Amino acid sequence: MTDADELPSKSPAEQPEDLDPFHISRQQFEQAAGHLRGLKRGLIEFLNSPKRSIIVCFPVEMEDGSVRTFRGYRVLHNRVLGPGKGGIRFHPDVSLDEVRALAALMTWKCALIQVPFGGAKGAVVCDPKCLGDAERRRVTRRYITELGDAIGPHTDIPAPDLYTDEQTMAWVYDTYDVLHPGRNNFPVVTGKPVDLGGSAGRREATGRGVFYATERLLARQVVPALEGLSGARVAIQGMGEVGSVVARLFQAAQAVVVAMSDSEGGILDPGGLDVTAALAYKQAHGTVVGLPETLTITNEDLLAVDCDILVPAAVGNQIRSDNADKVRAKLVVEAANGPTTPKADDILGERGVLLVPDILANAGGVTVSYFEWVQNIENQQWDLEEVNRKLRIRMYRAVDAVVDQRQELAADPDESAHGVDGDGLPVNLRTAALVVAIERLVQATLQRGIWP
Ligand code: NAD
Repeated sequence: MTDADELPSKSPAEQPEDLDPFHISRQQFEQAAGHLRGLKRGLIEFLNSPKRSIIVCFPVEMEDGSVRTFRGYRVLHNRVLGPGKGGIRFHPDVSLDEVRALAALMTWKCALIQVPFGGAKGAVVCDPKCLGDAERRRVTRRYITELGDAIGPHTDIPAPDLYTDEQTMAWVYDTYDVLHPGRNNFPVVTGKPVDLGGSAGRREATGRGVFYATERLLARQVVPALEGLSGARVAIQGMGEVGSVVARLFQAAQAVVVAMSDSEGGILDPGGLDVTAALAYKQAHGTVVGLPETLTITNEDLLAVDCDILVPAAVGNQIRSDNADKVRAKLVVEAANGPTTPKADDILGERGVLLVPDILANAGGVTVSYFEWVQNIENQQWDLEEVNRKLRIRMYRAVDAVVDQRQELAADPDESAHGVDGDGLPVNLRTAALVVAIERLVQATLQRGIWP
């Protein structure tokens, strides 16, 4: 017997929480698939497995003349509904497992919002804050060159994600166009600048989609004592492309933004922040922290702020088993991808906190990416009103499908064995959203027929 054998084993409650995003996404999928009857095991395994994972390593010459080797990933999760679609993330901590999990999320998101794409995701392991513009351009161009024909307008279409933006997408387009001259290459990437084949409204689309999803959910009266945005007190984690738009649109709808944060920390004013002033301060100082006449708080404090709606809009694994009991909001809207762990989902549910899952809440980005792709193929340019009108229709429709699915499962007596969410319904909105998405994917897979 070894020393290790003699140690008392830890009870499940004492085990450290599994924060591996790939494990989490598989767990969430398995949980939802359990609600679908008659699914073949092999089909579940197929839908839950990435179709292709590419790892590339490449050298880049830095400003100081040194050479650094970078690692990049591109994962294609599923292509049953159409070409792969998913952002490119630049982050020092990004792992292949995280990219796989995010690619799977894209598959469910596209199925849920009913755009004809599969799921994909890409990343380069780097700290964009430590790279100059020319270095970021070289990293982007070399990464896209290494991917070669793994991406393409009808195979796999990238977009922006954490720490990549319109400029990055312009370099992606230009690199691909140089390598594939003589044809319309605009649809190879979305999130481009408007003057370079981008769509009106794409930059704001994810935040605007979060706004429409929240508006519709509240109108469906599924959150007790919260029937609209007017007067609702809101805390937002992350003030990037997504969080800043959420802050502006929520405030314009008469919500009171009491707290916001970025990677440096957060600010709080229980009486309501001036969002315009806070964003101007961030523009000037690189952070919202230090805005006069506000209290400085940590990102951990922000999650526990007294508010009605909490919007995580930064990075993954923020609401976990060790802090979910501190969340005081009635509603959590996942603008970020994967901000809540499965254990935290259960804790929130038991405490009556409703959560709008990422695949629903932040689907506005991929929706307008789809609009951009359509405009590129048709050589069209839609105006902003048309884009926003079409986005609102799709977001409302997706929210309705998820709320209806949850009620349908609640009415099913066989469902009573599953975990109880806060308001007495047997499944949470994440599981209901996944059930809708998986059902659509299963149907499409079977309609296509298993090859050969
Ligand atoms: P961004 O790079 O523009 O902004 C990220 C923000 O998060 C910044 O304000 C940054 O300071 C903050 N941040 C970083 N680390 C943090 C930490 N540890 N704690 C608190 N704040 C932190 O990114 P974005 O495009 O706004 O994306 C935000 C989230 O939304 C990501 O999870 C992304 O995957 C998701 N998302 C984005 C889009 C899109 O269209 N941009 C679409 C769908 C989902």
